[in-house]
Amino acid sequence: VDGATVAVLGLGRSGRTAARALAAGGASVVAWDDGPAGRAAAEDEDIALRDLSRPGALDDVAALIVSPGIPHLYPRPHPVIAAAWEAGVPVDNDIGLFFRSLGQSDWDSHDVAPKVVAVTGSNGKSTTAALIHHVLREGGRESQLAGNIGRGVLDIDPPGDGGVVVLELSSYQTELARSLTPDVAVFTNLSPDHLDRHGGMGGYFAAKRRLFAEGGPDRCIVGVDELEGRFLANQLAESRADDRVIRISADRKLAEGWSVTARKGYLSELRKGRQVGSIDLREIKGLPGAHNHQNACAAYAVARTLGLGPRQIEAAFASYPGLPHRSQLIAERGGVRFVNDSKATNVDSAAKALAAFGRIRWICGGLQKEGGLGGLLDAAGGVVKAYVIGREAEAFAMSLTGIDAEVCTTMADAVARSAAEAEPGDVVLLAPAAASFDQYDNFEQRGEDFAARVAALA
Ligand code: ADP
Repeated sequence: VDGATVAVLGLGRSGRTAARALAAGGASVVAWDDGPAGRAAAEDEDIALRDLSRPGALDDVAALIVSPGIPHLYPRPHPVIAAAWEAGVPVDNDIGLFFRSLGQSDWDSHDVAPKVVAVTGSNGKSTTAALIHHVLREGGRESQLAGNIGRGVLDIDPPGDGGVVVLELSSYQTELARSLTPDVAVFTNLSPDHLDRHGGMGGYFAAKRRLFAEGGPDRCIVGVDELEGRFLANQLAESRADDRVIRISADRKLAEGWSVTARKGYLSELRKGRQVGSIDLREIKGLPGAHNHQNACAAYAVARTLGLGPRQIEAAFASYPGLPHRSQLIAERGGVRFVNDSKATNVDSAAKALAAFGRIRWICGGLQKEGGLGGLLDAAGGVVKAYVIGREAEAFAMSLTGIDAEVCTTMADAVARSAAEAEPGDVVLLAPAAASFDQYDNFEQRGEDFAARVAALA
């Protein structure tokens, strides 16, 4: 990039990090954000602004780097991106820049080359990535966690010998990156989400599959509990040596090749039908429910490919502290447990949260996503009552066929009523099955509101 002019569109955290990293690499950076807040933040960091939507603004630009929040294809491309496509200006993102920078400078001089692990999938990405990071560190390996979680990829310090970088990648990030070359790639599962941004399920799957492009990762860890994952694993296995694909499942018995499965809470690693490792996951407090057992399978498989032993992994699982807003036990009062799963922003993740507990008082609702409630009601067998929040609470409650549902609208009301009606042994579970933007800035704020209301209960 030395001397070239590079444009950055979107000045949230990742855009500003990209601008700084590009400038440090010798590029002349011009940046823009449609919102004044992003522009102000950039100015504070001495990032030069240029209105990229002006005619001719891209004339001298060698590449356009865009943030994951900006639509580049569906429902329609941002006008600046459309102009770049038209003008033949390459469009990339920070993930693409990161992978291009590998093998250069600081990454080159190692006895044991650092490895990059990339995790994608519809649900469980953050949990899986955080769990891998935790297991590696507990196992004595240097590990850094970045991507969609925590820090921007361009903020990563060059790792030392044998170091590992664990990246959580969303479909927005994988779809656009011009270079995507992890050593180990993980695909957790697939369910409908963000379909408006990918032109439907096919585009969404295609975006995630880009991690496994031909000539790609040495190790492919693929969740096979959905059709798409089975298809992907079979295709990869055809064209690669036997031990490059590890199939993972939270509900099937797998006979072929190398697999890690968790059935009835028992994780087992099989190679050619022979069991080579096992862990009793029912003992692991930080990973409740079958969905977390799927995440555990993925993390176990990654750790195995990086040389850790089953007992080391088991010990690390036992000390995993969990992530906020994901099946997080926040309080227990009078025998009632309060669990914050505000991150359950889609139907599948909420269904998994519901399946993980017994008698549930369910706080749900918010901005509903495309596709309706689908299989959610099948998973709601443990729900004794739903307390519906959100601007559209009434309509949401109507769609909960067969469930005793009360329209509460606000979190304050939902927490007060559910707590008042709960009996010892019940779980008050926030698992909205909807986005938060009708009432909150993000799911974190929603989860914090829940926690604050619970803390304030008399
Ligand atoms: P992501 O980063 O993919 O959004 P998280 O680990 O943050 O994934 O979890 C998001 C939501 O999905 C949480 O509500 C969590 O309870 C649920 N979840 C976690 N792991 C899985 C899984 N393997 N399958 C389905 N749902 C899951």
